[in-house]
Amino acid sequence: MSPSRATGANAGPDPDLDPAGRVDWLRDQVRGHDRAYYELDAPVIPDADYDQLVRELLALEHAHPDLLTPDSPTQRVSGAASAQFAPVQHRIRMMSLDNAMDSGELRAWGDRTARRLDELGLSEAVDYVCELKIDGLAMSLRYEHGRLVRAATRGDGRTGEDVTANVHQISGVPQVLSGDPPEVIEVRGEIYLPLDAFARLRAQTEADNAVAEAAGRRPKPLPANPRNAGAGSLRQKDPTVTGSRGLALWAYQLGEVVGIGAPPTHSGALDLLGSLGLPVNPETRSCATLEEVYAFCAHWVEHRHELPYEIDGVVVKVDDLAVQAALGATSKAPRWAIAFKLPPEERSTQLLEIQVSIGRTGKATPFAVMEPVFVGGSTVSMATLHNSDQVRLKDVRPGDTVVVRKAGDVIPEVVGPVLDLRPDGLREWEFPTLCPSCSQPLVRPPGEAQHFCVNPECPQKRWAAICHFASRGAMDIEGLGDQQVQLFMDLGLIVDVADIYSLDYERIGELRGYGEKTIDNLRRAVDASRSRPLARLLFGLNITHLGQAGAEALAGALGSLAAICGASLDDLAAVDGIGPVIAESVHAWCADPVNSDLVDRLVAAGINTLGPERSVLPQTLVGSTVVVTGTLNGFSREGAVEAIKARGGKSPGSVSKRTTALVVGAEPGASKLAKATELGVPVLDEVAFEWLLSTGEVPT
Ligand code: NAD
Repeated sequence: MSPSRATGANAGPDPDLDPAGRVDWLRDQVRGHDRAYYELDAPVIPDADYDQLVRELLALEHAHPDLLTPDSPTQRVSGAASAQFAPVQHRIRMMSLDNAMDSGELRAWGDRTARRLDELGLSEAVDYVCELKIDGLAMSLRYEHGRLVRAATRGDGRTGEDVTANVHQISGVPQVLSGDPPEVIEVRGEIYLPLDAFARLRAQTEADNAVAEAAGRRPKPLPANPRNAGAGSLRQKDPTVTGSRGLALWAYQLGEVVGIGAPPTHSGALDLLGSLGLPVNPETRSCATLEEVYAFCAHWVEHRHELPYEIDGVVVKVDDLAVQAALGATSKAPRWAIAFKLPPEERSTQLLEIQVSIGRTGKATPFAVMEPVFVGGSTVSMATLHNSDQVRLKDVRPGDTVVVRKAGDVIPEVVGPVLDLRPDGLREWEFPTLCPSCSQPLVRPPGEAQHFCVNPECPQKRWAAICHFASRGAMDIEGLGDQQVQLFMDLGLIVDVADIYSLDYERIGELRGYGEKTIDNLRRAVDASRSRPLARLLFGLNITHLGQAGAEALAGALGSLAAICGASLDDLAAVDGIGPVIAESVHAWCADPVNSDLVDRLVAAGINTLGPERSVLPQTLVGSTVVVTGTLNGFSREGAVEAIKARGGKSPGSVSKRTTALVVGAEPGASKLAKATELGVPVLDEVAFEWLLSTGEVPT
């Protein structure tokens, strides 16, 4: 049996019939991908696919030692210095790291290291240091007499690229060291793009694209992930571009040191780096046992998304530098360290077809149907493609191999096609002209990115609208889920949302699965929904563009459904929190006779259409923005947010420069806390929060 074959490697010689040919082919593939990744900052396949190619090559070389050559990518540090920058010789080589893809491989490394240490008579009291493996670009920073004089990329480990001018522009990299710097100190670290800087770069690219499109120019692809965007931002011809992107640094290793004795341990080296004002990652942990190492790695599998930057693993290093020297290195990587890789968040898979779904307002959304793939902790087989412009921009076509990205709980995204693997003659996908549910024409209104089915009778649209009305965020009718709505529609018991209040319970009682108790519960849930707040009703009515916040704003300002329906366009647009697009949409909805008839029927059914009582609480927090994280004793999360809003304040889900204070309960989100500390936002406990609520003052 041959070693397992890399997925996506759908070409190349068969490893069983022609192992030598397969090895050559794999080496070519890996070298090509190395060039795209390290030199062009534009990889064509996900890291996990690349890792599989390398793994297959390693396994074949292991099974056929005669095929192993010193120039194989498995034997050398990958990457090369490009001609764009002057070359720099590293006085001490910059190495790669061996990888452990799962906890089994990590434990195997632990066992191997323990055995080697035993053989060397060094097994007693070996400590390990665990660090986050930052997904960025390795950098060597040389300081002479405390001043940054040279910054170089890793290149092939011996020769890197001189990027000094670019790194001089990065405010997160100290240009002058503090404390008592030695004559020469070379710092190894990772330059990376924090998530907020990545989001800004994406938003900027989107804005630039809108301008480009308006001028008839081709839009640029959106930066796909922080690692490649960060590497691309650093390796710019114009250093001011590098300086504008918000790159940051974590220092994690000492290189050459002249003028002082280097510390005897890695943890001592990290302390030294910190004392010189270099950013050392606070999540670094010294571990006395391998079990502690494993627990640290397991922790970050669960918590990686709480960080404000991306990591792709945990690096485990033997702490004692003398023990490190005794363990030595292969031609590519040290034996005293291992990179435990976190499960991949990008994979490639087949795009089987692109379908279009019709939403509750008739919005037609294309979505990708894919060969199921395990990525970001779950199996993904569908992902939205948002609208026809996005499909065109990404140029994904049924039959393509596509890259899918899923980070934690975030919705999966199709990043783009793997063009190298596109079959010849694959046709561009065309947005359908007819609704897939009712076969009526799909319309794209001027200025809208979206197509719509405007047929009021469209069954799919009606179904989605009723499901939304009954959903938790709207009228919250338990027992009236998607399937029940479909069933009642099929039987003609419901045509629109008002019909929910005149359901024929006798007829429902004849259906299988509807005993007395179920019917009673449904009737009670329907009755209870009659008294939901006006904002929930408004949100439930499926008015295009009107979300929960807009519905609350309208209900709060105008006080009743009658007032909203009677308001002029100007009155609606004057409501705080309602923009012209929403105002227009609400006005048009109310003017439609079909909708006024619906409102009349809802009123006749006894639905609450009156707005909230005006708040009698003192408006202590007008103009303040208070974010809540963690569990409080005296408030539920929603209760705390309500308390802030009821006093005129805002309570968004994330911390920014504009945040007045962060309220912290038990087990707070690490990223909110880190952000507040970084921005100097006051952090309050529950007692201080109560003081803030009653006085509007942030206690000092
Ligand atoms: P590696 O990324 O597995 O490990 C070595 C690197 O880890 C170091 O050079 C350093 O940059 C980084 N690192 C981050 N935090 C660190 C810390 N705390 N201590 C020490 N090092 C730390 O190995 P590699 O040889 O640099 O790259 C191989 C990886 O790069 C692949 O596994 C793949 O993920 C990616 N890659 C992808 C493609 C592609 O086509 N998608 C191509 C080439 C490489």
